[in-house]
Amino acid sequence: MSKKDLWKNDTKLTIAIQKSGRLSEKSLQLLAEAGIGLSNGFRKLVSCSPDFPLEALYLRDDDIPQYVSDGVADVGIVGENVVAEKARGVETVEKLGFARCRLSLAVPRSVEYNGPAWFAGKRIATSYPRILQNYLREQNLTAEIHEISGSVEISPGIGLADSIFDIVSSGSTLISNGLKEAEVVMHSEAVLIARPGLEPLKRDILEKLLFRMRAVMHSYKNKYILLNAPNEKIGEISRILPGIKSPTVMPLAEPGWSSLHSVVNENEFWEVIDRLKANGAQGILVIPIEKMIV
Ligand code: ATP
Ligand code: ZN
Repeated sequence: MSKKDLWKNDTKLTIAIQKSGRLSEKSLQLLAEAGIGLSNGFRKLVSCSPDFPLEALYLRDDDIPQYVSDGVADVGIVGENVVAEKARGVETVEKLGFARCRLSLAVPRSVEYNGPAWFAGKRIATSYPRILQNYLREQNLTAEIHEISGSVEISPGIGLADSIFDIVSSGSTLISNGLKEAEVVMHSEAVLIARPGLEPLKRDILEKLLFRMRAVMHSYKNKYILLNAPNEKIGEISRILPGIKSPTVMPLAEPGWSSLHSVVNENEFWEVIDRLKANGAQGILVIPIEKMIV
């Protein structure tokens, strides 16, 4: 059976991906690890996957929610910050775990900041006026929002604004511009968005795409672990290492000892290793997982 026969007809799902920027490489990498090859969008507007019924459109990230809601693309990969700012009535289908950042209000370092009321009547420069306006409304504050499209962080220094509302990741850009973070308004990461009410054949392709993406994302977050333990410790160690169902236990050639295999989550990895050692585990091996279906 050829690859094409696997798919019932010629229906393709169109995905919008950032053409060039912080989301581009990770978006293509996630798809590639899901077995969906696409050429880099650097010189192209459109490309088709040879392995999966997917066509990619390479766009500016700011345009992606609109293209998805208008039906030019069926799905897209974009930051939650852009989804919230554009408010285009698209459905967020999955968080993708990369391009993590926060949107924060920042003030000059010399300011004695005493809470959100400080912003009342102040000039705030931002590329995210809608998210900022919603925040100010929630706080019952009125301020002067100056919408600018780039280099927001320099605006207090040149007298254009008293403060800014912008993306922060490490905070080093703020420091080098003499600013400090005052309020975190929103956390953001890359998400897969979809047009609500996709036709059934496209929904079907989206479900298959999601299944593959989730398998890749689970594999990023988990490690395969093998260890040796004395038989009397198997019960204790199984409680520390529950795995997907329960660990695999196999006898070693040496009497009284077994080998245990399981899966451990990256977030609790070092703590689990310490507890395993304290419970008599030896010869611990940790191996990356290529795909994980749960
Ligand atoms: P485009 O040319 O497509 O409009 P852009 O300059 O608006 O690109 P990028 O800087 O590539 O956008 O950022 C894309 C997205 O990556 C942002 O909307 C945000 O979700 C996330 N992002 C931005 N800056 C950071 C950062 N410093 N750390 C982590 N993620 C970030
Ligand atoms: Zn942009």
